[in-house]
Amino acid sequence: MEQKYDRWDLSCLYPGFDDDRFKADLASLKDDAQTGIALLQDESLTRLARLEQAVAHSEQVSAKVDRLANFIYCTSAVDAANEQADAAMDQLSLAFTELELSSSALARFVAETEDLGQLISSSDILRPVGFALREMKEQSMHLIAPEIEPWILQMQLSGGEAFSQLRDKLDSTLVVDYRDEKLPLAGVRGKAYDPDPAVRKDAYEAEIASYAKMELPMSYCLNSIKMEARTLAKARKFDSVLDMTLADSRMDRQTLDALWTAIREYLPHFRRYLKTKARLLGHTNGLPFYDLFAPVGKTTRKYTVEEAREILIREMGKFSPEMAAFIGNAFDARWIDFYPRDGKTGGAFCSGVHFADRSLVMTNFQGSFSDVSTLAHELGHGWHNRCMAGLPYMMTDEPMPLAETASIFNETMLSWQSLKSCGPEERLYLLENGLMEATQTVVDIYSRFLFEQEVIETREDHAMSVDELKKAMLRAQEASYGDGLDPEVRHPYMWACKSHYYSSGNNFYNFPYAFGLLFGKGVFARYLEKGPAFAEDYCRLLRSCGSAPVAEVAASVGIDVRDSAFWRSSLEVIRKDIDEFCLLAEKTE
Ligand SMILES: [Zn+2]
Repeated sequence: MEQKYDRWDLSCLYPGFDDDRFKADLASLKDDAQTGIALLQDESLTRLARLEQAVAHSEQVSAKVDRLANFIYCTSAVDAANEQADAAMDQLSLAFTELELSSSALARFVAETEDLGQLISSSDILRPVGFALREMKEQSMHLIAPEIEPWILQMQLSGGEAFSQLRDKLDSTLVVDYRDEKLPLAGVRGKAYDPDPAVRKDAYEAEIASYAKMELPMSYCLNSIKMEARTLAKARKFDSVLDMTLADSRMDRQTLDALWTAIREYLPHFRRYLKTKARLLGHTNGLPFYDLFAPVGKTTRKYTVEEAREILIREMGKFSPEMAAFIGNAFDARWIDFYPRDGKTGGAFCSGVHFADRSLVMTNFQGSFSDVSTLAHELGHGWHNRCMAGLPYMMTDEPMPLAETASIFNETMLSWQSLKSCGPEERLYLLENGLMEATQTVVDIYSRFLFEQEVIETREDHAMSVDELKKAMLRAQEASYGDGLDPEVRHPYMWACKSHYYSSGNNFYNFPYAFGLLFGKGVFARYLEKGPAFAEDYCRLLRSCGSAPVAEVAASVGIDVRDSAFWRSSLEVIRKDIDEFCLLAEKTE
């Protein structure tokens, strides 16, 4: 018999891959893309009518893609051997290239419309998507010329995209000689969390030794992907790859500079945490890299899914009764796929089904506190989707830096409530766990940003050799971790194991994480200040995430992200945890 809380229910999307509607929907996307272009070219209609039709059509196609993509990706995520899902995914990727040409055509049409502002205010169809249309016009100078756009899109498949796939193959087929075993890279890296210090050290040494087998092809992947990024930035008339990334993130330099300025000021506090952790583990010269994830303190508590449900409803209910009801419904209406099983992918995610005002959450729940926290995180994304319900698709596209606001908010809320009511051993564990993650998101992310910047800048002159890449990585680690890490035991190959550097089309896939963590914490600090009255502001903030530049969204709840003072206030929350951790550590030493 199936347990009450076990697998999610995807039948609200399609009954199965053999369903006629599914097949018809998938097959029709190519025609939809062509219709989108044809509607704009219909000279028998006024410009306003053409634009209205194209917008309405785009909304319909987005809803169809939403249904199809969720069905295909979510099925595949829990059933890797499903060949029907794989075949459908290939078909969908091809359709995406066509649909991209159709959105570019719309953007070009909007750019050429001189009286856009007037058209928007005169139309009930255009007004709700006014921001998206105005943004298209503003960004139109960055569109690639229509004669070459299809060729660039196709060449990316054999360029950056191909190098990115090669990276995945190199990573997933690398065999690491660990003690008497042969293990995949992910398996060896997972041992960094092992309670046994000898396991962590041996795993690290085996990992570092294994990179020699793939360092050369990996360096070609990295150099080529970043070369393509430089070319693309030029073709799109951006001054640099960073400027292109910032524009795509709806963020300005001033905001990024304010974030880094505050982070640099707080690096000494993170180093103090790292040195304290090092001492707790018996090291005298800073923390060796292999002990960054070593568990500290003890927790024996295990949770069932039913208990997790109860805790989340209770703790998040303190924020608002609507949030509690939302969480209860997500559990009971089978939005969540809980447990690990064969063929199910690792990790966790939340995917919104916008037209149905519903979210799909996948986790690998095994009963630890961190599993409960993951549920809180993913349901935060779900709450974000709920706050956006009913908006046109064009207005739901939140940029990366804002995408983690609600998830971090939930995680922070849960850990804040849990810390209030636990014993000293567990308190040390919870604090340390939070700091370990914050250190990754702030300190390690800063090193990744510095490294990526160096690779992209150097690429103007030459492709970096393996040796140069290793030295650049160590320099970046020195600048961020400083004396927090043992200078003899660092990780010169971090560039070879982090997939983020190789996501072609997504450069600097790092600072949005630091932004997201500190912004989510800053929003939580606002809640502590204002109490339950903040719930309404909070939902308005989440609803507007796809409707304005990042700085404007933040300003709507009185946050100035261009001012380092805001980022300092978020970092202060972490510093207090560091102070308490160091104090508790002293008592146990
Ligand atoms: Zn997330």
